[in-house]
Amino acid sequence: MTARRLLNPGPVTLSPRVRAALGRPDLCHRQEEYGEIQAEIRQALAGLYCDPADWSAVLLAGSGTAAVEAMLGSLVPRDGRTLVIANGVYGERAAAILAAQGKPHHLVRAEWTAAVDPAAVERALGEEGYSHAVAVHHETTTGRLNDLAPIGELCRRHGAALLVDAVSSFGGERIDLQGWSAEACAATANKCLHGAPGVSFVVARRAALGRPTAAPGVYLDLQRHHAEQERGTVAFTPAVHPTFALQEALREHADEGGWRARRTRHRALSSIVRTGLLGLGFELLLEDESAYGASLTSFRLPAGVGFERLYGDLLARDFVIYPGQRALAREIFRVAVMGDLDPADAGAAVAAFAGSLAAQAGEARHAAV
Ligand SMILES: *Cc1c(COP(=O)(O)O)cnc(C)c1O
Repeated sequence: MTARRLLNPGPVTLSPRVRAALGRPDLCHRQEEYGEIQAEIRQALAGLYCDPADWSAVLLAGSGTAAVEAMLGSLVPRDGRTLVIANGVYGERAAAILAAQGKPHHLVRAEWTAAVDPAAVERALGEEGYSHAVAVHHETTTGRLNDLAPIGELCRRHGAALLVDAVSSFGGERIDLQGWSAEACAATANKCLHGAPGVSFVVARRAALGRPTAAPGVYLDLQRHHAEQERGTVAFTPAVHPTFALQEALREHADEGGWRARRTRHRALSSIVRTGLLGLGFELLLEDESAYGASLTSFRLPAGVGFERLYGDLLARDFVIYPGQRALAREIFRVAVMGDLDPADAGAAVAAFAGSLAAQAGEARHAAV
């Protein structure tokens, strides 16, 4: 039996090592051992891109959206103003979160297939004062890796603290929080870090975590979680087994060479997928390959080929592909290479696409006679 391979952007296909960690002996989160696991994870997360002397990681039980909601809720003051920079579903979701929290914000929206325009961001920042800006690093809607260096520079000049949704890039791309003058980023265990779903986190400047919380609720109060985690305890019941898995995933990530090696690995797999599918006649959604990050590619659905058919044919060969969202649902499909996949898997996925196209062509010929 071949194991099912997930080509969706999280949850990912788990490595045997990470899967085994899920089955470790039960542990109470009030035991000292849990505190040690939590400390190792927080140190690794803060140290992945930053100096843990100035930056700290806060673990949450929840999906990536919980981390984004906690970051925006806790760090943006109630009377702060946030510029939301969006070119996809996740930027727009950040605006929806701020709206739900009743916090003033303004949306600079680009087409989902377009890059963020720094000139538009600069105009908006010049029109009004903003305490914060929020941007998405890897916009999973399309697979575009947004260039946050110029955005960060504009935010710094205008005195707006940058908050980053790095949910689908953390661990697998360069993230220069210091260079972008960012205040925090939100991410999750089960995308580029190859952990299991259930744990997400925010990496933030210690100075920001030292300010009073602006959280509109109790559960997603970052400062509260941070204070407890700094003491080696937890505020509420954590996702214990997914936390075991995250510890192991981070060890595996380090053993394999950190975020650069993870990016190299994802790039190699994406290259097999892109070359293979372009060779079959599929077209990229974005203007060219250089617009994409390492881990995900969006392709146009060819005329006359529905997503459901491709999905079903791929599933019959144990691959799970991902549809487009909202307006793109009938236009595109997406192939992510996060998780425990190797070049043979990527090649087999390309063969499965070829098989689906050949079967559909055969049926069309048959129907025509
Ligand atoms: C996946 C994702 C999220 C949301 O994560 P969930 O785990 O589905 O809540 C947010 N932002 C980006 C960029 C993502 O890719």
